[in-house]
Amino acid sequence: MNGAAMIITHTDIRSMIREIEVAYDRYLTEFRIPDDHKIVVNYSAGKDSTATLAVAHALFGDRAQGVMADTDNEHELTIKFGKTIHEQIGCKPVQMVKRIYTEDDFARRRAHLQKNWPKRQVIRMGVYRGVVMPSLARSDTKFGQAWLRTAERWGIEYETALDAAMSVMHPSGNSFLDCALLHGKFPMLRDRFCTDELKIQIAYEKVMQPLLDNGDVVVQWSGVRADESSKRAGYERFSADRRDPDFLYNFLPIHRWTAADVFAVHKYFGIKPNPLYTQGASRVGCMNCVLCNKEEIAETTARWPEHIEKHKQWELKVRLRSRWVHWMSVGEVSQRWMKQFDLPLGRNVQMYGITPEVQNIDWSGFYGPRGGLNSPGVEEVVEWAKTGRSGKVYDLVKASLDTSVCSSRYGLCE
Ligand code: SF4
Repeated sequence: MNGAAMIITHTDIRSMIREIEVAYDRYLTEFRIPDDHKIVVNYSAGKDSTATLAVAHALFGDRAQGVMADTDNEHELTIKFGKTIHEQIGCKPVQMVKRIYTEDDFARRRAHLQKNWPKRQVIRMGVYRGVVMPSLARSDTKFGQAWLRTAERWGIEYETALDAAMSVMHPSGNSFLDCALLHGKFPMLRDRFCTDELKIQIAYEKVMQPLLDNGDVVVQWSGVRADESSKRAGYERFSADRRDPDFLYNFLPIHRWTAADVFAVHKYFGIKPNPLYTQGASRVGCMNCVLCNKEEIAETTARWPEHIEKHKQWELKVRLRSRWVHWMSVGEVSQRWMKQFDLPLGRNVQMYGITPEVQNIDWSGFYGPRGGLNSPGVEEVVEWAKTGRSGKVYDLVKASLDTSVCSSRYGLCE
């Protein structure tokens, strides 16, 4: 912890909380929000939302209701922390919500695949624009025969790619995996459907919507801090929510606080933070997040390898559901260019003694493109995460990471 945290006194904290109280009052007047409005605190079991819940409870008691969305990709300690934080704060238990994908959701998706995968499809965007993807429902075509070699390489026994996809299109019992299966890929930076479906929408449907339907005005408190990113810095501290602008509002009470302020508030209220911080995590939440950085991947590999294994198993299923991966597994160049030489698809071929480079993709990678690799699987990403900055030199510090030592970047081991 840096020196700044050491000089945050109880008086400072009392005035920081008082500042929130005064500002909130001002916003209520400005936005004409009734005194009997409902307060919902978005809770993630991280340090910022814990501080936010503690402050909301200190100011409003049991009027503040914490809500946590379990994505089914969380660390078990995070879920446990969320389920027991009320014992530390003295507030009402946090309401846990989870999106459950049903057999009906999967049936609709199966029908969609059955209708569309037998058809040829023209790619409309990107470098492969104009390329025609063949039917994935036939084994009597050149592509179908080539795909059977993919199946052999993957160790699966199906006649066609469509059959392979159908085999995984049933609820798995894990919401994050189900979400990826229904989308046919893992979430990415520009397509973060996990946050939308597994966190934002479900909290709205289960908690906010019923209150709004009941005629209540709701203010959501969130522990967003400006110094986390320039995007977050640009958020208004108080604003109407676009989903229901006359009745639903967003308040960011600790927007200008630092991480040191947040931990000082934990101490002030006698709250022990999520234990993952003292075990080396710089952030809690999904273990891992699809967008996490190299250091976090290395950290998880060393400390919680079971979560890496979990993602490996998910990749094995999601690739069966990805039209793109089935097609690319045969080798795009061999389909587009080699065909004119009438050479077999999906094989290593030699032309005039030269082995042409054929791009194969075997994964819908959990972590997306990393380290200059187009679509690496978890294993490749983990190897890359162990390397130094150049991506080539093995970093001895990471290699010898001692999993029993606290490496919290917040210095929480006191
Ligand atoms: S933490 Fe990452 S993986 Fe989890 S829901 Fe958010 S964006 Fe998705």
